[in-house]
Amino acid sequence: MTAFDVVVLGAGSAGSWVADEAVAAGRSVAVVEQLRVGGDCPYVACIPSKAMLASAHAREQARNLARLGGDAAPAPSLGPDAAAFGQAVRRRDELSTTGTTPARPVSSPNPASR
Ligand SMILES: Cc1cc2nc3c(=O)[nH]c(=O)nc-3n(C[C@H](O)[C@H](O)[C@H](O)COP(=O)(O)OP(=O)(O)OC[C@H]3O[C@@H](n4cnc5c(N)ncnc54)[C@H](O)[C@@H]3O)c2cc1C
Repeated sequence: MTAFDVVVLGAGSAGSWVADEAVAAGRSVAVVEQLRVGGDCPYVACIPSKAMLASAHAREQARNLARLGGDAAPAPSLGPDAAAFGQAVRRRDELSTTGTTPARPVSSPNPASR
């Protein structure tokens, strides 16, 4: 049976940081993750929510282009809100499943430190 100095439960932002710090301190580390390496942030929290906000922000800016100092003639065609929402959801899902900001790799055990 392999023994580790540190066992981290959960490979979200917190667990990944703890694991990296422990490895940096020369400890051998095992990380146990029950669902998704990376935790909530890349899949259901930070990344997807920012993707939706970015789409809404872009649409709002396009709508207010002239007020913002832009000059587009003819004015951009934004199409129906429902279609834009669908496109934003597709983009969100692409970003959060392919992970353009991928979950940091969890540090591998460092048996050399034993
Ligand atoms: C909508 C939304 C938007 C957000 N936006 C941002 C943002 O822009 N910037 C920001 O800094 N933060 C943001 N956050 C907060 C961020 O998501 C959390 O702070 C972060 O995910 C917390 O990390 P964590 O490691 O503590 O927990 P989690 O990400 O929840 O990770 C915990 C991990 O532990 C695993 N786990 C739990 N129990 C066990 C077990 N017994 N055995 C094995 N594994 C286990 C889980 O499966 C999970 O993967 C947002 C949150 C939400 C909800």
